[in-house]
Amino acid sequence: METLTAEIKKNSKKVPVKGMMDNVMEQFNSAANQIKLHPSIRKILSITNNEIIVNFPVKMDNGDVEIFRGYRVQHNNALGPYKGGLRYHPTVDIDAARALAMWMTWKTSLAGLPYGGGKGGIQLDPSKYSQGELERITRRFTFALADNIGPEHDIPAPDVNTNSQTMAWMADTYMSTRPPAERTANQHVVTGKPAGSGGLEGRDRATGYGVYLSIKIWAEKNNINLKVKKFIVQGFGNVGYWAAYFLEKEGGKLVAVQDAFGSIENQKGIVVEDLFNYTKANKGSVVDFPNAKNLEKDKFFATECDICIPAALGNQITAKKASQIKASLVAEGANGPTNVDGEKTLLERDIAIIPDILCNSGGVVGSYFEWLQNRNGELWQLDEVMVKLEKKLRESFNKVYEYSQREGLDMRTAAYCIAIQRIERAYIERGIFP
Ligand code: GLU
Repeated sequence: METLTAEIKKNSKKVPVKGMMDNVMEQFNSAANQIKLHPSIRKILSITNNEIIVNFPVKMDNGDVEIFRGYRVQHNNALGPYKGGLRYHPTVDIDAARALAMWMTWKTSLAGLPYGGGKGGIQLDPSKYSQGELERITRRFTFALADNIGPEHDIPAPDVNTNSQTMAWMADTYMSTRPPAERTANQHVVTGKPAGSGGLEGRDRATGYGVYLSIKIWAEKNNINLKVKKFIVQGFGNVGYWAAYFLEKEGGKLVAVQDAFGSIENQKGIVVEDLFNYTKANKGSVVDFPNAKNLEKDKFFATECDICIPAALGNQITAKKASQIKASLVAEGANGPTNVDGEKTLLERDIAIIPDILCNSGGVVGSYFEWLQNRNGELWQLDEVMVKLEKKLRESFNKVYEYSQREGLDMRTAAYCIAIQRIERAYIERGIFP
């Protein structure tokens, strides 16, 4: 039997997200000071509205029962229902869920959506479970959350290690537990569903497309041609893959990739579709890709390149990593990939950052379109989705860019100022109950 101290030590090593909450609070406070946020509203936004923790049993394939712990943190709903993903990862805990929920509040506000912010998930390593077990875990989690989620109350979506299949199971479970007459009217309880089950054409690529588009607009504003520009991507999941796909189409060259298993590099270029097909046949891993050399983990951020796209987990670009980065632009596909010290170092080195709440907001904008589609009983076509997405993302980018130029601020602080002011206005207009 392990001693408690040994156990705590072991567990604390497993939590690289430690400090995410410190990051989001520092970012928030610096923007709040900048706009002289009303003190009462600062108090409200500094804390989460609701924190739901559920423990639930699931029958495993071998007949044993395992207990899982699921989280849903609802940060703020001043602008509309809580919105945000659910992730399945060993780093999920209450601190991570709180930080990620806050980021969703800023993201939806900045994007001009009628949503608040929420986030959650389950602390587990999905590679250890069969597809059948993952289905039962997801369905039981949905059942345990019960009326804490709902199409007009809190609307989950995919995030790290969850996908359209996860959302299909959630929607089906939620709808199956409603009274018969209400079932189909509840399809928009989650977004990111498969296109055949109420999902939106193009929602799969929406986040990565947004990352690519942000880079493209940034390049336009700085008179930079993206052709043959070298880029590196951390994380080759949904976001990293689609961002690389669109950048390659624009003429960019993918030169290094890092995932949970290892890193690879080829300065002559890695063909995105080849790597994608390789990872599918190689248990999701980029390691040993034939047309590249394996790279030591610590060397990844030091790779020669023009654009760096962290599209994996939080807290990856620390001060040390930031001092090694060769790129002139960091485009944040992940949530919270750069910590506060990392950001200081990047800005001191004149490396531009397109902040997460802007750069990866294509996903939640796509979710909003899916929610509208379901609510209105419509079916949207891929081309109209992409046109609407581009319009919305360009508006957000321009707002942030202009604000940052006008006020002499970095893009993150500018994005936060715009996002927080919109929420502040809502509180001032309606007052505090009672
Ligand atoms: N998980 C995504 C994010 O972090 C999407 C959230 C959503 O679509 O609700 O933005």
